[in-house]
Amino acid sequence: MDMEVDEGVAGTASSRLAPIEEVKPTPKQIKRIAAHSHVKGLGIDPESQMAIHEAAGFVGQANARTAASIIVDMIRMKSMAGRAVLLAGPPATGKTAIALAMAQELGDGVPFVPLVASEVFSSEVKKTEVLMRSFRRSIGLRVKETKDVYEGEVTELSPIESSDNTGLGKTISHLVLSLKTAKGSKQLKLDPSIYDSILKQRVEVGDVIYIEANSGIVKRVGRCDVYASEFDLEADEFVPMPKGDVRKSKDLVQNVSLHDLDLANARPQGRQGDVSNIVSQLMAPKKTEVTDRLRSEINKVVNEYIESGVAELMPGVLFIDEVHMLDVECFTYLYRALESPMAPVVVFATNRGKTTVRGLGDKAAHGIPPEMLDRLMIIPTMIYNESDIRKILVHRTEAENVQFDEKAFDYLSRVGSEKSLRYALQLIAPARLCAQTCGREIVELADVERCTTLFMDRGESLKKAEEVQKKLGNRSN
Ligand code: ATP
Repeated sequence: MDMEVDEGVAGTASSRLAPIEEVKPTPKQIKRIAAHSHVKGLGIDPESQMAIHEAAGFVGQANARTAASIIVDMIRMKSMAGRAVLLAGPPATGKTAIALAMAQELGDGVPFVPLVASEVFSSEVKKTEVLMRSFRRSIGLRVKETKDVYEGEVTELSPIESSDNTGLGKTISHLVLSLKTAKGSKQLKLDPSIYDSILKQRVEVGDVIYIEANSGIVKRVGRCDVYASEFDLEADEFVPMPKGDVRKSKDLVQNVSLHDLDLANARPQGRQGDVSNIVSQLMAPKKTEVTDRLRSEINKVVNEYIESGVAELMPGVLFIDEVHMLDVECFTYLYRALESPMAPVVVFATNRGKTTVRGLGDKAAHGIPPEMLDRLMIIPTMIYNESDIRKILVHRTEAENVQFDEKAFDYLSRVGSEKSLRYALQLIAPARLCAQTCGREIVELADVERCTTLFMDRGESLKKAEEVQKKLGNRSN
């Protein structure tokens, strides 16, 4: 009987890049993107290639959307190297929404990373490091994984214990699973997370089981599913395989960002699986730093994967709002980063006209140094008319699932036109809460009116602050 031991199934280091557990946007990014959940694309007419007045959740701003769609075509044709986009216009004129829609138009899974320029100035992390991380978050990689499926009858199932390094107890280091397959006997060494999965499925000696293992370049530790043909298994979980040894199943596609790969590879490998008590967990090594060297190693491996066709690069959209807050050092970093063959599409936004360039002292258009302005495709956004504001509010109330009666909605639209769209949008959620406290699901006029007395718009708040300042000034005189 031939016998082989296979260690690859447990997700041990047989690939050059570390396992990725999950790819998620940060909570801050989720919150920012949620405000645009009604936006599904740029809403372009495929024939005329012009923006349709109301389409894909967008209303108006047709010239800016048409311009953005031309940029999307340029990105597809790889003609944007070394250049970036600037969306310039008053607050709440859809700059963020347009940048998000550009990422949507570039395809499924293309990253959209929103950043407010002031976030770059953190006390803990260097500003160029914040920019670098955001760049790498915005560069996606579509990786094809191949799943190996092992099938066989369980002949042995033994947890192997070993002393942990504290000397306080024993910990399961791995599990030996012997399978009788058509070609002979196979011994698989599985890590403890898979052992848990086997226990949950109540697999015993004598069962016929299928084990799916990820064997591509990006593997997930502990995501090795165990399928037991004779046990409580959902029909759709069952993978019918002809009896045999190891069989390749279909390719899987996983999207990760370069930043995900940096983090996964910065963690010290090989210790996570065998920490079974609190003491050893506390003593487990902490995450190590992502160094430039690590990043260039990852770039090298990623390039090899791209060349061999295992992975495909998906440059996403890095959206930097309030770009006038960046300083000269940040811009210098950005000139170089934009030239990189792995650069995402950088979309800046600002609502400032001529203002001081931070760190330079001179005034320039939008607070951006002339060297950077030369590299920008500038798209203006305009304020909305009353009818468009009303339509945008319809989209948002629907997206937030809030019902207004006619009078309440008329009043909200008026507030949007007379005060600001942003203010009206911000009143939707509190107005619903006011209605609910009165036992109603439908928002009435009184609810919106009440909210306008409780919350101020930007202009009113400024007026009040100036009045207070004036009074204080009078008193001190
Ligand atoms: P700021 O300068 O304050 O950052 P902005 O120009 O980026 O603002 P957004 O945040 O994109 O504006 O827009 C505010 C809200 O209005 C968002 O919920 C956005 O989705 C919505 N919105 C803006 N313009 C449109 C539009 N043309 N169609 C539909 N929704 C829109």
